Amino acid sequence: MTPQNYRSLFSGLDVPVPLLNGKQQVYINLDNAASTPPLKAVEDAIDRFLPYYSSVHRGTGFKSQLSTHAYESARRKVLEFLGAREDEHTCIFGKNTTEMINRLAKRFPFTPERDMVIVSLMEHHSNDLPWRGVAKVLRVGLLSDGRLNEDHFDSLLEQYGSRVALVAISGASNVTGYLNPIHRLAEKAHRVGAQIMVDAAQLAPHRAIAMGVLDDPAHLDYVVLSAHKMYAPFGTGALVGRKDTFSRGEPDHRGGGQVEFVTEDEVEWTGAPERDEAGSPNTIGAVALAAAMSQLERVGMDEVARHEAELTAYALEKLNAIPWVRLFGDRDPARASERLGVLPMQIEGVPHFLVAAVLGYEFGIGVRSGCFCAHPYLLHLLEVSPADAERVRKRILKGDRREMPGMIRASFGLYNTPEEIDAFVEALAAIRRGDYEGVYYQDVATGEY
Ligand code: PMP
Repeated sequence: MTPQNYRSLFSGLDVPVPLLNGKQQVYINLDNAASTPPLKAVEDAIDRFLPYYSSVHRGTGFKSQLSTHAYESARRKVLEFLGAREDEHTCIFGKNTTEMINRLAKRFPFTPERDMVIVSLMEHHSNDLPWRGVAKVLRVGLLSDGRLNEDHFDSLLEQYGSRVALVAISGASNVTGYLNPIHRLAEKAHRVGAQIMVDAAQLAPHRAIAMGVLDDPAHLDYVVLSAHKMYAPFGTGALVGRKDTFSRGEPDHRGGGQVEFVTEDEVEWTGAPERDEAGSPNTIGAVALAAAMSQLERVGMDEVARHEAELTAYALEKLNAIPWVRLFGDRDPARASERLGVLPMQIEGVPHFLVAAVLGYEFGIGVRSGCFCAHPYLLHLLEVSPADAERVRKRILKGDRREMPGMIRASFGLYNTPEEIDAFVEALAAIRRGDYEGVYYQDVATGEY
């Protein structure tokens, strides 16, 4: 299949958007690490299901039964997509990766003897902040190029192994696109009696994931993902995790649909996954996510990876040739297949937020700028000293964000094309030349990070 064929699998790609100069242009989305446009298969699945949706698990009518069937089929699809077995793992639906990690943090059976969680310095805040307060957090350090320092991981396990209950690590970084060796880390974690959770928000849309059976020492205990990063709409996240964990303990959300029997004084909770799905579920969201997964499987995750590596290598080659582009992380096109197509960079002499704003307002190109919800990682990549970080923190406390460090990030999806990368590079050159209006500069200078 050529890149153009992949575009034909998507909906809404050819919608023109207004530019500052009043013209219209087909939108170029290079911000897939944030959110992705829908697959047509997703749109079709929603269209087919909408006339039929009704109460799930709570009704005997035809539509209600059909909805229950659709919801449970979606659950099975997610398990299958992640290579998990229904008797060992369960799939709990929720809102997004952030919610699901927060919920695992509340549900995970930390004990006084095993009270530690290992995260890394490259985590999205969603896989850092939820652990603070519920466990003692250890952080794996990074190498100078921003990769995980596995020797440090090993030494943390050696020193604290008997107290580590869980390793919570991203499968792929939303900043550098680095892939972490999740199965090797899983094996090491299991060897000391710990479990592992993979934040697959970035990994799942781009690589096959095989959670494996619990007997396999390299299996994954928990995997978390978001539908809106894998070509289905917002509002659906999935947590696939060990059935034994979710078959006991107190659910964090409480309400209808999760009990066997309730008296004024007693509650008999039901089993997994219903125990952790209080209230009426987002059935349409689950159906949409399952449809996206089925379509990705039809393309083939190996083909997804191959195609995106080609785009990434193409972009790296072009960007490497430009002296005023400072790329972070791995910039070698020959290793494009060993990482995701997430490229963080700075444009010499132009603030990151301005570059992103001009790309959006004047060139119709969507990227992200700032710290990508991974402040510790950005501070590491930008070599910001602790003293400088403290100075910035104090200024921000006073409401002054001008010194907030940051980068811009271009991130590719299955439907992107080399021509879009050309347009991006040309737009960067125009911005570098000062060839833009930038009348909104004051507004964007105080933007969100
Ligand atoms: N983890 C990673 C690695 C991410 O990239 C993101 C989204 N940028 C999240 C977690 C949070 O995902 P969501 O906003 O869907 O909760």
